[in-house]
Amino acid sequence: MFCINCFHENTSVTNSRGHKKQPSVWRRRACTECGTVFTTLEKPSLAQNTQVHTNHGTKEPFNLGQLIVSIADAFSHNPNEGKKYALWLAQTVETTLSTQHPALLTPEDIEATTHVVLKSFDEVAAIQYAAKHQLIISASIKRRGRPSLVSPVRPTDASPSR
Ligand SMILES: [Zn+2]
Repeated sequence: MFCINCFHENTSVTNSRGHKKQPSVWRRRACTECGTVFTTLEKPSLAQNTQVHTNHGTKEPFNLGQLIVSIADAFSHNPNEGKKYALWLAQTVETTLSTQHPALLTPEDIEATTHVVLKSFDEVAAIQYAAKHQLIISASIKRRGRPSLVSPVRPTDASPSR
């Protein structure tokens, strides 16, 4: 890989680490000419490796741009937050999909994973995303109005009592 500072064609890898839970490798590179040090991250490209079933019975490559837009759309209550984090959230969805699913995805796989990622980041965005994509989100909807029946278990309640 060439240098990002002087475009010299030789850089050497000075440190490298594979992620333990994701298919990715982090590398620190140094330019042999100007000494600039920079980091690269190697991971599978879903756009290159993964096909998605369409509603018309065809297949098309995974589209990160489409996912970013659909995530940003879920932030109508907070558009600035959407602009700031849509890319990062979409990349998290992409990484999660690459570790959990084979090379052929359904739109439902993508929607379900996106919903889970959004829910851990912004509950309102997750609800708006689910509504827009007509997802059935039993837990969070049913919980409203009947909190005593299905109130969330707090970490202290979950630990075994001795
Ligand atoms: Zn250089």
